[in-house]
Amino acid sequence: MKEIVVISGKGGTGKTSITAAFAQLAGKESVIADCDVDAADMHLLLKPDFAEEEAFYSGQIAHIDQDKCTRCYKCKKVCRFDAIHVTDGTFTVDEIDCEGCGYCEKICPTQAITMYDALSGKTCISATRLNNTLVHAELAIAAEHSGKLVTRVKTLARQKTREEKKNLLLIDGTPGIGCPVTASLTGADYAVIVTEPTISGINDMKRVFDLIKTFKIRAGFIINKYDLNPEKSRDIELFIKENKMDYLGQFNYNENFTKSMTQGETVVEYDAALKTELAKMWNKLKSLIN
Ligand code: SF4
Ligand code: SF4
Repeated sequence: MKEIVVISGKGGTGKTSITAAFAQLAGKESVIADCDVDAADMHLLLKPDFAEEEAFYSGQIAHIDQDKCTRCYKCKKVCRFDAIHVTDGTFTVDEIDCEGCGYCEKICPTQAITMYDALSGKTCISATRLNNTLVHAELAIAAEHSGKLVTRVKTLARQKTREEKKNLLLIDGTPGIGCPVTASLTGADYAVIVTEPTISGINDMKRVFDLIKTFKIRAGFIINKYDLNPEKSRDIELFIKENKMDYLGQFNYNENFTKSMTQGETVVEYDAALKTELAKMWNKLKSLIN
């Protein structure tokens, strides 16, 4: 089994549109994982059926038993996150503000406080309208630990890929260079970096490339919106050449990337010319990973 992860240093480069296009071109030969859990939108294009759902717990939250609480204020005084509120003499924990440090539980003289696992979201294994399997997730509002959720999505996606005897796991990675993108890249065979010729696009591309080098993963680049700044696009091409990485291809600015997304279609369904370009890139990518 080969794992390809599609990433971008910054959001808005067309990463998800390109991953969904590759998912369509790959057809039944692949399992898809949406690891962009902070802004998951692959489901808008692939219309999954949410057949199998699993709760995702991460971190802890304090809970106060009102029958045991003697209103001594000790927990309120020690909470550095101001997560314990007092309303009409009743002590409660604000689940958003609580960082789960457990200090209040330790100092409570009546054992009124217990820590419980925080429900931080859910993972889903779905059949899609493209007849392949999508493993995806929803992070609860204000929940953290998205790196752990990415790891869970990848674990389930690998299991599913083996169960279905597929050769390919295609991953929509996370933008940026933080913990979630590190989790997206762990164990990957190949990274596709989607970039654009802007100052922030190039800076973020270089930062994510530095991260990829530490994983010793081979990378191929796609330049989107090439014609927005041809000079900077040529700088990117030079960077790819100097670093002996693969150049998968380029697109000029094309509003059909956005239009197809708003119509809930992949860009290969929406635009025949883009389909031809993407098919060339997909075939090149397949030959490189094999
Ligand atoms: S430390 Fe315990 S007993 Fe005191 S106010 Fe907090 S929950 Fe109530
Ligand atoms: S677990 Fe920590 S952050 Fe949460 S309420 Fe207790 S002291 Fe505050």
